Amino acid sequence: MIGKGVIDLERINVKFICLLLLTALSFSLGAMPGMAAEGSNLNLMAEVFTAAEANPGSIGPEETLIITDIGSPAESYAFLDDFYSEFYDRDLLYTQNLLVVQNARNSPLWFAFFDKSSGNCTYIEVSYENESEISYQVTENIDFDKLSKTPKSRAAWNEKVNSTVFNGREFAILTISNGWATGKLDYELMQCLELHNHFCPGVSSGFILANWMEENYPLEANVSYTVFSCPNWCKEDVFVKRWDATPGKGGVWMSALTDDEKEAIGNSPAGIFVVADKNAGTRKAVVLGFDFNIVNAECGAKANDPAWISKYLADLWLMDRENWDTEGLVSVISVTDIDEATLNEMKQAGNNPYEVLGLLDSEENTNLSGNGAHGIGNGNGPKAGQKA
Ligand SMILES: [Zn+2]
Repeated sequence: MIGKGVIDLERINVKFICLLLLTALSFSLGAMPGMAAEGSNLNLMAEVFTAAEANPGSIGPEETLIITDIGSPAESYAFLDDFYSEFYDRDLLYTQNLLVVQNARNSPLWFAFFDKSSGNCTYIEVSYENESEISYQVTENIDFDKLSKTPKSRAAWNEKVNSTVFNGREFAILTISNGWATGKLDYELMQCLELHNHFCPGVSSGFILANWMEENYPLEANVSYTVFSCPNWCKEDVFVKRWDATPGKGGVWMSALTDDEKEAIGNSPAGIFVVADKNAGTRKAVVLGFDFNIVNAECGAKANDPAWISKYLADLWLMDRENWDTEGLVSVISVTDIDEATLNEMKQAGNNPYEVLGLLDSEENTNLSGNGAHGIGNGNGPKAGQKA
């Protein structure tokens, strides 16, 4: 009698544990994106591709560019395998037909399907929190030549930009798609655009500066660059991508300059590139300037052009390698041999690296007495660290 009672208790325990495990399993499945809508929507990515195909026409290796932030939004990685399965089913190529850009984790999961022959672009957003579904979809013609042709066509696109027809990604999608459609967008620049997530003159200038450095101070084995991105602009993301100059590994140090400091240094300073050559045992600080006045004067943009026109025209001009040697576009402000102590001093918070190199008057800059008598170089304007 006693023995039977023990067996019954054991049976109940096993049943209870099984129930617990089942409950836990169903909760964990429900928490996975892509799994949540099981039954109602088995393949969201197939739906996205089908929706895009219904609009610009066929998707194929000659005419399609897909731009997406897949992988960046929270848990959107769950769709990656399905996405690539659909992508390769259509004979598309990773290097020819795709740009996966980085976005923040709180961004929506979006896709832009650009059709080169028509200039049409289908923009799709999906939601996958509870049910997986297409939450927004629109098709617009974004052919730059058509949009920029007449005052009427410009105004029409300006209106679309103002109404954020691509949910704020109008500039990024228009410039990347049109740049890609020229067939002249360097794939190594596209790799930088993955990180930067839009195509602008700033990132283009970084590409030119990076190429200039590699040409003049070749990145051979045992050579590394440390970049003082001062003043910083969109260009830095090129160095991060191209040279693995990540902030976390001390590859890039960023700070701003006042207009007075820029003027005092002269030649539109872009940054200080420290080249450490372990083979030769040398460390050189190469200070470069980049002059956007030349770009603006040469690219064909007019003063009253909207930003999407002037910036894209600048992009086109900067994409053309024949323009890279234009006198004054990249200038050498100075080249100095430095030691490790100087390099460390340049990295310290509160130090202006140009002062450390003697290119700015440190007396003037560090004078924080607040009497307003000192400016930078030309004797007027606020100093670094001081309010005007
Ligand atoms: Zn940019």
